[in-house]
Amino acid sequence: MQKPNILLIYTGGTIGMIKDADTGTLRAFDFDSILTRIPEIRLLDCNIETISFDEPIDSSNMNPKYWADIAQIIEVNYQTFDGFVVLHGSDTMSYSASALSFMLENLAKPVIFTGSQLPIGDLRTDAKENLITSIQMASLQKDGLPVIREVGLYFEYKLYRGNRTTKINAEHFEAFESFNYPNLAESGVHLNINKEYLLRVKSTDQLIVRTKMNTNVGILKLFPGISKALIETILNCKALEGLILETYGAGNATTEDWFVELLKNAISRGLHIINVSQCAGGSVNMGQYETSSKLKSIGVISGKDITTEAAIAKLMYLLGEKISHKEFKTVFETSLRGELT
Ligand code: ASP
Repeated sequence: MQKPNILLIYTGGTIGMIKDADTGTLRAFDFDSILTRIPEIRLLDCNIETISFDEPIDSSNMNPKYWADIAQIIEVNYQTFDGFVVLHGSDTMSYSASALSFMLENLAKPVIFTGSQLPIGDLRTDAKENLITSIQMASLQKDGLPVIREVGLYFEYKLYRGNRTTKINAEHFEAFESFNYPNLAESGVHLNINKEYLLRVKSTDQLIVRTKMNTNVGILKLFPGISKALIETILNCKALEGLILETYGAGNATTEDWFVELLKNAISRGLHIINVSQCAGGSVNMGQYETSSKLKSIGVISGKDITTEAAIAKLMYLLGEKISHKEFKTVFETSLRGELT
């Protein structure tokens, strides 16, 4: 049997950073030195090639243009490689994994995002395990076909569905969590794949890469005491086409008339408003409480149990694809890549 071909795509992040001797701050450095720092990689049972952003970035500088670059690298190399590992800063990794899951329609090969909390040169680094196991996950094959056929995120012994993750910790090695969907795999003495949770996709459909993301979107987090002036200003922003409204609990918000009226008018003017809970676990259920039934009746879209990261990426994607007004709510509330239950 032929060894799988894996493409490592290096975008930047702590994994490949070094400490500036003068200032003590971490900054990106060139990718070749990463490979020389982990000679074990050469022992893996696969062929590895690498490609790097010309200027590696801290993922706080990530944007839809870079997402399109990653998607295009995958598109160009799709036939030649059996799996892809994207090295990415952890700060915005959940946004990028979500965005790529939408951009890569009919994906039938693994695209595994990973990174680390400590640079690869650090004695206590978590980079080695994350990188090596991500490559192994991307190399898994059964009957000549890849086992994982979706965008995953691997960090600290767990493989998650990428668009279900959230960065939850800036200190612990266990930096990510998937509150509303089980792990796709765990790495212990053995690699344990939870097959029943993997996305089932037909490998015969052709990969379609969709990179038109519309950034006329926003996220508004509610809090007790939020002012009418603030909400009014945001909703009246001319450029705004879609808004993620982060509500309380199961999708609840104040029932004050001014609030409901402002949302109602914005929706009738054509703004898409999506209800996503501030709670990391559980689902929006409009109509369960009186404090959400008005939102339902004025046409607010339910984000169900989607993460904010996946919701904003899905919103950019659907607006970019110019989904009609009539269909927008139904399409948003439908799972496209396993991002909601
Ligand atoms: N600031 C870094 C980044 O997101 C953090 C990391 O890589 O973990 O690029």
